[in-house]
Amino acid sequence: MSFNDLVGQDLAKTILKRSLKADRLSHAYLFIGESGLGKDIAAFEFSKAINCHESEDDSCGECISCRKAVNNNHPDIKEIRPEGASIKIDQIRELQQEIIYKPYESKKKVYIIYSGDKMNIQAANSLLKTLEEPPSHAIIILLADNVNKILPTIISRCQLIRFKRVSELLIKDNIISNYGLDEKKADLITALSGGRYKVALNLIEDQELLQERDRVLDLIISFKGIDKVEAFSVVQDLLDDRERISQILDQILVWYRDLLVLKLNKEVNLVNIDYLDQLEKESNGWNIKGLEDIIKLIEETNNVIRGINVNLQLSLEVMMLKLIRLRGKNYDQGNRGYF
Ligand SMILES: [Zn+2]
Repeated sequence: MSFNDLVGQDLAKTILKRSLKADRLSHAYLFIGESGLGKDIAAFEFSKAINCHESEDDSCGECISCRKAVNNNHPDIKEIRPEGASIKIDQIRELQQEIIYKPYESKKKVYIIYSGDKMNIQAANSLLKTLEEPPSHAIIILLADNVNKILPTIISRCQLIRFKRVSELLIKDNIISNYGLDEKKADLITALSGGRYKVALNLIEDQELLQERDRVLDLIISFKGIDKVEAFSVVQDLLDDRERISQILDQILVWYRDLLVLKLNKEVNLVNIDYLDQLEKESNGWNIKGLEDIIKLIEETNNVIRGINVNLQLSLEVMMLKLIRLRGKNYDQGNRGYF
């Protein structure tokens, strides 16, 4: 693996490679961008490249330093991940105790903090102290999906590296050449990935994910004609799968977006391309305003439930009740659709 294995993200790669080549490294980096864009691959490859003995602006993968990194036993590359739901102050205190000592055998001591947006406030304040007076032999790479959850005082002390969604063509070409998928499957995976290469890889490597998606789509299709009681039981099912609720809401959102896309005759932007028949028949019954309202509702709910101290059950129940009402108001029941 090297930077070249990171698909897309050319700007991020260029900035990092340039600073390696010029030997002008910042003491702290903040990698920002939604999950699935390869921030973690980039951070790990960067940490290897910083200490590689052979390559100037990348990692060679062959030298002793690169090999230790790949085997996860490099004494100067440390990784911090959330313990449970958050990164705790004890984890940052441990970093602070270690970071003051010089690297064992490398140029730099590198700390990668994954899911930096999951630092609790005490941990974040504690990290801030280190960022205010960083030892010259250390580099901290902080990763975050959501920049709004990082203290502004931390952001201002890091070099920001942004990760963006990549073109569908790039993803399709890569998965066909690396995994030998046929055209049809590659089109579906590419559409579902939405420009996030790691999402595409997960869908290829974990067959379960496509089955789970089918289950979610079946659930959405069943929304038609359900009453309050049934809606609450849908919420109970969702609560059983707490970890994935946000992801499921995203899938529901994409379904309604697809219906809107069809209404606007922009088929080329469809995501659930293998459900085209069902989508076409369902979209006949809807009006555009109704679909826009539902999309807004789901987006709002998804934002709310990502916050802290949220009553998850209540938020989902409210969403379901509004969804039923919007369907009743905006869906032509006389439509002889598929469902
Ligand atoms: Zn190397």
